[in-house]
Amino acid sequence: MAIIINEAVLEDKLTQLEQARNWNPRVVSRLESAIRTADDYDLFRINPIQYATDRNMDEQEAIDLFLHGTKLGLFELEWHLVCAFCAHVVESLSELSSIHSHYKCSFCQAENDVALDDYIQIAFTISPQVRSIRFHQPEQLDIEEYYLKYHFAKGLQPFPNGMTQQQVGDLITRYMKYVEPNERVVVETEITPGMLQAKDLLHRASLVFFLQEHQADMEAIPIHLTDGKFHAAGRTPAPRTVEQTAATFQFGATDELESGKVQIEFTNMMDRRSPLWIMHYPADFESFYVSFNPFLSGKRLLTTQTFRDLFRTETLSVDEGIAVKDITFLFTDLKGSTDMYDRIGDLNAYYLVRQHFDTLITAITNNHGAIVKTIGDAVMATFLSSSDAVKAALDMLQGLDEFNKTISVPLYLKIGIHSGPSIAVTLNERLDYFGQTVNIAARIQGLAGASEIYVSQLAQSHPGVAGLLTNCHVTREQVVLKGVSGKTDVYRISLSR
Ligand SMILES: [Zn+2]
Repeated sequence: MAIIINEAVLEDKLTQLEQARNWNPRVVSRLESAIRTADDYDLFRINPIQYATDRNMDEQEAIDLFLHGTKLGLFELEWHLVCAFCAHVVESLSELSSIHSHYKCSFCQAENDVALDDYIQIAFTISPQVRSIRFHQPEQLDIEEYYLKYHFAKGLQPFPNGMTQQQVGDLITRYMKYVEPNERVVVETEITPGMLQAKDLLHRASLVFFLQEHQADMEAIPIHLTDGKFHAAGRTPAPRTVEQTAATFQFGATDELESGKVQIEFTNMMDRRSPLWIMHYPADFESFYVSFNPFLSGKRLLTTQTFRDLFRTETLSVDEGIAVKDITFLFTDLKGSTDMYDRIGDLNAYYLVRQHFDTLITAITNNHGAIVKTIGDAVMATFLSSSDAVKAALDMLQGLDEFNKTISVPLYLKIGIHSGPSIAVTLNERLDYFGQTVNIAARIQGLAGASEIYVSQLAQSHPGVAGLLTNCHVTREQVVLKGVSGKTDVYRISLSR
């Protein structure tokens, strides 16, 4: 199919994109070339991390490129809830407020909770206003693309048993074809013990047969698709729960069948065609946690300052907290600021505090962090790793040293860093974090004196942190933190001068 570009729209949006920030040479022109010439599938659910790797460009710049592109209408941002056991895109949501952590996979029927770190992924699809691709109309895709490319997330790594997605597909597929309204198809197949499934993800119909060991004569199974469900004549399928080591599967409609030869006679009684997929899972088929090539996780997106700046109104539903398995918090405060307001007056103090924020923002964004909020003279920021946070803290101290040379009343920072699990929530219409890791990070900040960084032992033990501190004074302390039982190990860090 010929590529059709809306030239006027593309031209306009690329011009705006070029002006959105300072890009490295050729970043926008290479994006333009991709939009003009890439295959439809390559412009569907673009993974900015993969995009950066393929072009040998900075990951953060690639994320920025797609965020600015989305803001301008070149792309559509999708939040994917991906099944941890089959890579099915269980839900694709355009708004953060629709995200939730519990899901039931309509493909493999697994139930699970996901965190922002792992199976909540972000992808970008070219806007139909710029270039139309066939994945914009999934119901018109051919059936292999409909199932294998549209319904499953990109970048799946081979399973722990060494099989690729393609190999698993080949192993289980007995029949895959669109069945037109009122069409009847007959599928004859021989099955060993295990599980036989009929699936139609368009109508979300599913029927599962558990196969018992027995060489029966050929058995005919008439199945009708009516009211969006599979009905097997003479059978009354029942729900069944299957527990495996990794996952719990909740099958809505199951029955039993003897292994051997079966003849499925399928009739589509709906007025839309039915993408029929008949699968056989051998008895020894194991479920695993699937893993992906590096992707843009929900956690990383929320820790991207550009996202927070451009999509301020994007928040989680007020009723929904989403788990984050590991994130680093950095808190800062100014030493003796009340004193300073007293000495130089509110207006002058305010001016200095604003300027000190600029130094902090630069240090945070240069080290892949994002500001969650400012509270008076204090800042709360998040980082993907504690080494980024420690690097930002050192940059802050150095930056403020420089800044102090230009002013009459020097400012001194007190910084605290801690890592751990948390819950992303919406508080006061802003994306925020909740939980004991946040509380401890704030308390650790409270330990710091002028130009000091306190880092919890947990955060300090992350890879890469020790190497950053070779030119610093570092002492280890045991402290009691309010609201925390037992003693907490912390490191007190200051710049060598
Ligand atoms: Zn699944």
